[in-house]
Amino acid sequence: MIPETPSVLIPEKEIRHRVGELARQVSADYDKAEELLLVGVLRGCFIFLADLSRLLTVPRRIDFMALAAYGQNAATSGAVRLIMDLRTNIAGKHVLIVEDIVDTGNTLEYLLDILLPRKPATLKTCVLLRKRERLEKDVKIDYLGFDIPDLWVVGYGLDYADRHRALPYIGVVENEGKGISR
Ligand code: 5GP
Repeated sequence: MIPETPSVLIPEKEIRHRVGELARQVSADYDKAEELLLVGVLRGCFIFLADLSRLLTVPRRIDFMALAAYGQNAATSGAVRLIMDLRTNIAGKHVLIVEDIVDTGNTLEYLLDILLPRKPATLKTCVLLRKRERLEKDVKIDYLGFDIPDLWVVGYGLDYADRHRALPYIGVVENEGKGISR
């Protein structure tokens, strides 16, 4: 079977432009901060974080967390667990969570819940994509790339069953259902 080529939802050029805008906004906001700690949520963040972090003009460090979904429908049931924690002690630090996509908001809420008690100086969120109509949680997104419709998207780090992550654009795979990996 020939793998389907995802149709384009957000072209590469538009992503590059928007990530540039986000980087300028973040750089301006953290201009006075001694250092910013970018926390990438694996695996979907890896391309967004790579691009964003290289465009920032403020001193920054990078660390990662990894989450796993519980069970088959976990990507939409909201049940998540931590499988890799930060190596950095974030107390007193300016922390920016970098997420690929917010769907129901459960994952971001979970992250905020475990990071806030660690007493960072500030804790903000930078999200490339949001499915506004699917949101169930009142999570604050400080920097948002795009609002998208309720479709399963792939590319630019996002997968369907571990495929399509390296696509340079955000695409939609018409004939595949919803994946669960991160
Ligand atoms: P939440 O519902 O907790 O906001 O999102 C759960 C997770 O499901 C996201 O972090 C992401 O890993 C995954 N997810 C949600 N929607 C999509 C999508 O359209 N495509 C991909 N590849 N992953 C998604």
